[in-house]
Amino acid sequence: TLAFIKHKQGDIELWNVNKSNIIINGKDSLAPKESCYIIEGDKYKIGDFELPVKSNPKANLSMLRHSFSTVFDFEKDVTPMIEKQNLKSILSLVKNERVTMKPLMFSDIGGQDKAIDIIKKGVLFPIRYPEAYKNMPLNHGVILYGPPGTGKTRLAQALSNEADINFIKLNGLEMESKWVGESENWRSLFQTAKESQPSILFIDEFDAVAKERGGADVYGDKVVNQLLTLMSDLEKDGDDVFVITATNKLDTLDKAITRSGRFGLHVPMELPDEKGARQILDIHTKDLPIDIDKDELAKTLVEKKASGADIAAIVTNARSQAFERFGIYQKMDDGTFNPDDLANLKINKDDFDKAISELFQKTQKRPIGYNHYNK
Ligand code: ATP
Repeated sequence: TLAFIKHKQGDIELWNVNKSNIIINGKDSLAPKESCYIIEGDKYKIGDFELPVKSNPKANLSMLRHSFSTVFDFEKDVTPMIEKQNLKSILSLVKNERVTMKPLMFSDIGGQDKAIDIIKKGVLFPIRYPEAYKNMPLNHGVILYGPPGTGKTRLAQALSNEADINFIKLNGLEMESKWVGESENWRSLFQTAKESQPSILFIDEFDAVAKERGGADVYGDKVVNQLLTLMSDLEKDGDDVFVITATNKLDTLDKAITRSGRFGLHVPMELPDEKGARQILDIHTKDLPIDIDKDELAKTLVEKKASGADIAAIVTNARSQAFERFGIYQKMDDGTFNPDDLANLKINKDDFDKAISELFQKTQKRPIGYNHYNK
């Protein structure tokens, strides 16, 4: 991460906000927390990343979006201290998860073909091919709903990678407890998303902020109204910001939200059927030595009402059972482990049976997803 400050006089200062040195022009180094002024022609290097300064970067750094994803304009009357404080607390909640080792794509989501199809037609294609959607109202708000662990977060992440746009993730429950219904903060948050546009603002546990209240909850109403206003501003201003929300229970959301049309795209995410469970198994066992009839296993998983998250957990546990059986853990303990020891490893039916029974025992013989959903 490189942080730049543009001064009133136009000078640009570079702050090293990393834990290691930034090398300037191959010789000088800028230690963590130090800053320096940028001069045209400078070359900055951190790790393998090199940034040549061709000309002074402008405030609009969209050409270098990967390197400069967020611009804060402190010039516009930032008088109230509180605004800064709020921004700080927003940033602590916002996790930019765009840069991952291997980006998640739609093909990494199993058993959700219907949901993916809706998302493609409703959000991805309008982002990718704006010419085809000229003069058509765009859906800026989406609600993904269904039991926990069905891949809602994963779908939103994959969408941002497929569309190659920024991904800002936050959790409704955290937001609500932190701000106790202070609707104003939502404005700053949307502003952050606008400054990183094109972007996806993903709000998990949306019900925590947009749940229908029992009449007297003035704060809740305020947040809901503020959200609707902000959404309509996004539409009016033609911003490339998409607000994707996730909830386990669509019917608990405030009707003003679900009926407004501002969150007009409702996408169901169900527990997988046999074909879906098989797809999820394939995704999570791609690089593993598996010795089992996967169709048979998928059938068992569906009988147990396993969610995608349950299946991922079972695969991890089955591998661990196989490690145990092959003495891999023992060797790791003794310090005699050698990667060649994995050559003969096979994860078999016994390993999976154990993993399945452990998972469902933990949850009183019911899948995690089921328990969670019916809490
Ligand atoms: P929650 O409602 O609890 O937030 P969620 O629906 O957002 O859950 P995710 O967080 O996306 O679910 O899923 C958790 C993990 O479970 C994923 O990281 C992935 O490993 C696995 N998983 C869940 N659903 C799928 C799926 N459809 N395909 C592949 N993996 C899945």
